[in-house]
Amino acid sequence: MSSSQGVSTDPMQATGMISVDQALEFMLARARPLEETESVPVSEALGRVLAHAEISPMDVPGYASSSMDGYAVRAGDAAVDASVSLRVAQRIAAGEIGVALLAGEAARIFTGAPLPEGADAVVIQEDCERRGDQVCFRGPVSAGENVRPRGNDIQAASEVLAAGARLRPQELGLAASVGLARLDVVRRLRVAIFSSGDELVQPGEPLAAGAIYNSNRYTLRGLLSALGCQIIDLGSVEDTLAATQAALLEAAAQSDVVVTSGGMSVGDEDHVKQAVERVGQLEMWRVAVKPGKPLAYGRINTADFIGLPGNPVSTLVTFCLFVRPFLLRRQGVPHVLGNGLAVPAAFPWPRPSRRREYLRARLEPGANGIAVSIYPKQGSDVLTSTVWADGLVEIREGTTVEPGDPVPYYSFAELLF
Ligand code: AMP
Ligand code: MG
Repeated sequence: MSSSQGVSTDPMQATGMISVDQALEFMLARARPLEETESVPVSEALGRVLAHAEISPMDVPGYASSSMDGYAVRAGDAAVDASVSLRVAQRIAAGEIGVALLAGEAARIFTGAPLPEGADAVVIQEDCERRGDQVCFRGPVSAGENVRPRGNDIQAASEVLAAGARLRPQELGLAASVGLARLDVVRRLRVAIFSSGDELVQPGEPLAAGAIYNSNRYTLRGLLSALGCQIIDLGSVEDTLAATQAALLEAAAQSDVVVTSGGMSVGDEDHVKQAVERVGQLEMWRVAVKPGKPLAYGRINTADFIGLPGNPVSTLVTFCLFVRPFLLRRQGVPHVLGNGLAVPAAFPWPRPSRRREYLRARLEPGANGIAVSIYPKQGSDVLTSTVWADGLVEIREGTTVEPGDPVPYYSFAELLF
């Protein structure tokens, strides 16, 4: 972090690293929510972010209706008494409108059908005995039973969806239930990506000695798709300062946010940091996190820049921890941080670390219920750990863990959505 913007009171400053919390705070403070919106049909709004709150124009249901198949009655008329029977005067299916129910009458009614005027209860058909045009009852009947009052789910003029809501299937269903055909959503965030490294080869191409396949490109594309971003993929960039500068400028010109992988350390072959300093501003660098220490944030012209370390596990973990909340906030989502569940550890962590560690972990049944296990190999190159895992366990800096101690567990179901 540059001295002008840095957090000088940070105890980590001596090590040249800032804490995970400080890095998140720093980045989120710079994540300006997009203002441009677009209108999309509800059927195409999955995964988008709602631009403003939606108010219901109507009550749902719009009329009192039956929640079961049975007989609509006036509760006062129906008693559990073999001598009491009501005349079945009408039949009302969903979508039909009955006529007013008179004293001593019942109406055959089906789930979702409007209650006829005068009726105040529905007796389920299992509790009724039908004889010709008469019906009598085997169970007690009380006013209001099996009736959904008008507005039971939603009242007209109430807020049904909040600004910044991420639209899941249930949000789409709710919008449709109040008759909304289109929704105003935040325009897609444009994210440019490239990978740094002369050793990188695309899958499908032959692998020369010393080369490796570019995996981060595919991880990043998947991560960005899950967040509803428009991806501008510049592929791999060779390890020279000039090529890196040119790629950064090209990426920044086409996007809102540039995300790179690799080349963020200080080796002779790491050019991304220096290139950002030349063509933009590097505002934050090095976070006390493992894996992922060389994480960086900066600006290139009008675009944000986020530099991720090249090791594949580091790329995934730092994306989940820092890039995801940043990109969500840029799309106007208010709550962007994961919720750690406290789960008993099935492992010891005897040596405290100076950096906050995120271990590839998985929930498993233990002797006393669910516990969380960690993959035996936690190296930042061990991509198999991320496939074995269903989440990450957080070990805070300076702490140790004994089996059974609660540790924060973050599910991939949340981190990758
Ligand atoms: P770097 O951050 O560039 O020093 O790279 C750290 C390690 O991650 C090296 O072993 C690189 O070969 C590897 N690496 C960098 N970029 C990628 C990538 N896109 N896909 C897979 N591995 C990578
Ligand atoms: Mg490299």
